[in-house]
Amino acid sequence: MSGPSRGPALLLDHANVITLDPGRPRAEAVLCRDGRVVAVGSNEELEAMMDEDDIHFDCGELTLVPGFIDSHSHFLAMGLSALRVDLSVVRHRDSMLEAMAERAELLDEGEWVYGVDFDESQWAGVRRLPTREELDRRVSDRHPVVARRICGHIAVANTKALELIGDDLDEVDPETGLLLEEVVLRLSEVVGVTDEEAKGAITLATLKAHEEGVTAIVDMADLRTFRTYREMAEKGDLDVRVFCAVQARDVDGLTTRDAEPVAGGGGDMLRLVGIKAFLDGSLGARTAALGEPYADDPDNRGMVLYTSEELRSLVRSAEDTGLPMFLHAIGDRAIGAALDAFEAEAANGNPLRHRIEHLEYAEEEQLDRMKDLRIVASMQPNFIVQWSGPGKMNEERLGPMRANRSEALRDVWGRGIPLAFGSDCMPFGPLYGLQGAVHHPVEEQQLPPVIALRAYTLGSAWAVHAEDQMGSIEPGKLADMALLDADPDEAADLREISAVATIIGGQMVHVATDRFNRAVHRNAQRALEEALMDTDLPRLDLEGPREDDEEDDDL
Ligand SMILES: [Zn+2]
Repeated sequence: MSGPSRGPALLLDHANVITLDPGRPRAEAVLCRDGRVVAVGSNEELEAMMDEDDIHFDCGELTLVPGFIDSHSHFLAMGLSALRVDLSVVRHRDSMLEAMAERAELLDEGEWVYGVDFDESQWAGVRRLPTREELDRRVSDRHPVVARRICGHIAVANTKALELIGDDLDEVDPETGLLLEEVVLRLSEVVGVTDEEAKGAITLATLKAHEEGVTAIVDMADLRTFRTYREMAEKGDLDVRVFCAVQARDVDGLTTRDAEPVAGGGGDMLRLVGIKAFLDGSLGARTAALGEPYADDPDNRGMVLYTSEELRSLVRSAEDTGLPMFLHAIGDRAIGAALDAFEAEAANGNPLRHRIEHLEYAEEEQLDRMKDLRIVASMQPNFIVQWSGPGKMNEERLGPMRANRSEALRDVWGRGIPLAFGSDCMPFGPLYGLQGAVHHPVEEQQLPPVIALRAYTLGSAWAVHAEDQMGSIEPGKLADMALLDADPDEAADLREISAVATIIGGQMVHVATDRFNRAVHRNAQRALEEALMDTDLPRLDLEGPREDDEEDDDL
């Protein structure tokens, strides 16, 4: 066998295993050794393979799935948000100002009050953004104050913050304090993050990933963040697999060392996987580039942030570097521009796996082109829960016709376009996302649960050239898995499912004991009830009267 370094095996048995391996879609047990899956099969088969000092974990008939891979995250930023004022929960304009004023009280004069993830589309009452003058008056004029919208493309700043950001830029309105696009994306550079803060933030974000059953993430990072991950990975301090796409402006700074993966957990712990660029903004900020104007802003079609020549040269240099472009394109005009550049510059069949991030509103012919060019669709089904459906933001921005054609998951999957799911951290959590995919308000766009699960695991793995390492539970692959307290194939609301255990490289990195025990108990009770139902005893009607009961009355 594999020599003296052979460590103890971990056997996970009595599980409802969804393997996503077409050769054996379901199983009862998984045996892991040295970070990898060594066997998948029945309880008896695998128990017979165990040695005395091996570890045994009885899954209590809960559902074991491949570890989730979040294809598009702002992982460091999510961790930093925990250190900042979380405005995502705020449902009123006044509460936003109050939350930031409270934080200002706790900080020394001159320290940044940094509010993140406000979403005025969710506010009751007035939805007007606060102005510079209001932030001065109601939050603080002694601290630099900035609040960033959930989309990451809009922010508001007070007078002190504007002094530090510089108010001579095009994207800054010195009067209202409104900030747009590039200046917002680079806010964290102005606010400043120390290396220690960054490492703390990554550790916090990693705990969150483990809680959500996420075993690998793609961070849309900058070069500095990527190097922070590297430092942690090399010291063995990184506990989730991280793939990074760095910003286009960072490409010149990349070294050959950056291209080398860092090993850990039986495989790669860190790897550089792409180059990120923004082609447009967001629907929320009305800066996504649309072919036709916004329904709620008839003079505005948003903007494409690159000329076609600039875009082609981006894709060309990505081809030279050997890394795929991750092009953020939300509106159909931006998506068209991305496809033009890929068509002109990408190698045939797209071997690098260039991708479009978000792809929120695409025309049907654009999806046909995507399929022909084999461009990866990196989509966020959680956006559907947040913003799709009658009366929601996408309908306001796009009008009902286009809104119904937005987030067209089934049109993408049905064409065979490679599909990867991620969260964009809005909010982070694959099960929240799966809910959007499975219960899309436009019924024709709904995905079957297993297909949605596949996009969040194997699809995401494929998109970063890791499909032979992860994304399904198969012998030879990394032992990265999540144990869920309900089967996504049977749950009515997938948001209520939680990961009760998470395994990375054969190590249990998270166990929610209470939830686990409750779920096992629930399962056992149901099994007992089913067993009783199978006997010839008179049945208890647990569900109340059904239609056939009425027919009985008629007889
Ligand atoms: Zn993003």
